[in-house]
Amino acid sequence: MFAKDAVCVMCGKKHRLDNIYRCTACQGPLDIRYDAAAIPRQAFDPGPSARENGIWVHADLLPVRPEYTVSLGEGHTPLLRCERLGDALGLRALWVKDETRQPTGSFKDRPLCVAVSKARELQLDTVVTASSGNAAASMSAYAARAGIRAVVFVPAHTPAAKLQQIVALGARVVKIRGTVSECIHMTRSAASSFGWYNVTTTFENPYATEGDKTVAYEMAAGLNWGCPTWVVVPTGAGPLPVGIWKGFNEMRAIGLVPGVPRLVAAQAAGCAPIARAFSDGAESVQPWDSPNTVASGIQDPLVGYTQDGTYTLQVVRQSGGAVIASDDHAILRAVRLMGKTEGLYVEPTVGAAIAAVERLRAERRIEETSEVVIVATGHGLKQGFVDLAELAELPEIDPTIEGLKALKLGH
Ligand SMILES: *Cc1c(COP(=O)(O)O)cnc(C)c1O
Ligand SMILES: [Zn+2]
Repeated sequence: MFAKDAVCVMCGKKHRLDNIYRCTACQGPLDIRYDAAAIPRQAFDPGPSARENGIWVHADLLPVRPEYTVSLGEGHTPLLRCERLGDALGLRALWVKDETRQPTGSFKDRPLCVAVSKARELQLDTVVTASSGNAAASMSAYAARAGIRAVVFVPAHTPAAKLQQIVALGARVVKIRGTVSECIHMTRSAASSFGWYNVTTTFENPYATEGDKTVAYEMAAGLNWGCPTWVVVPTGAGPLPVGIWKGFNEMRAIGLVPGVPRLVAAQAAGCAPIARAFSDGAESVQPWDSPNTVASGIQDPLVGYTQDGTYTLQVVRQSGGAVIASDDHAILRAVRLMGKTEGLYVEPTVGAAIAAVERLRAERRIEETSEVVIVATGHGLKQGFVDLAELAELPEIDPTIEGLKALKLGH
């Protein structure tokens, strides 16, 4: 293992790689550091056939001893060239990194398989997370696979399909009357009261966020060690865009890729603390009152850990990127556009990323010739968005050709 310590991104304090969460001096996010010079180049670029083994081909770049890894075949998701969606958005070179095909249907399998593996290494027998649904499903799956206990705190309004998945995976689920921020505070208290391992994927657990880097390695390989101009990511607190940024910087440092992408953090207008700070030109992110959006995966008001949003804001600015908030109407139109142009069924959260590209194209901030990658973070089956009223209006006929002709579907 080449991971050597963890450094606070806010104050620089160093921490040993044991059971750590946030900076003990300032509560800032911790960033795991590696002995970069010792890491073999192959850790980034294991070759096409090895790459099929998913994220653990990059084990030298992850902070877990290999004998403790627990896996469900995560990673190695397709990077799909999307010409029809590109045409609709006015882009000549658009790709979708399709994370809907992860074992539990969202990218959260990357951070959670690393964090649950770390729980095994630390010999802890219960993992706990706060979640808007997807991280809890991932944690529950890996905990089941590892034979350790899973406890989940979710907002009471979490979409039913996400809850069904978590329950089916055997976790103890507690619904909290509050937002995901309140679930995070519950998780923290429960973890310290009962000695449970907190794997929450804001920047709460520094091991979890390392799993997100693997998206960058796969993206670069899929572009034949090129670097897209823009990477667009639905963002709540931001460990995914930050992880992608870190991964590209590691690869650039050894000369494997020519540059790093500009990041677009895509938020929903009903919960947009980072977007607000970005457009105000503010130094730091403030919590969001009364979050309300269909994009459940990114509905994070950051109450009590705004430093996570501030860190994401800093990284996005450093990348020369942007933070964009889209309203629910645009978000829902965007997921349908992706469905009908590319055959990809994604949860509403992903619509924030598509709508952000639409806006940046309209404002000419992304050019027609730019290379753009949208990360499709979660599957449509996680949170259906086609109204039951719309299903009720579908034509229903007797099984006769006359009945069909009357519908005038054409030839
Ligand atoms: C968790 C999640 C995100 C990103 O949220 P962060 O809080 O920034 O990690 C994006 N999309 C989906 C579907 C998610 O579940
Ligand atoms: Zn600190």
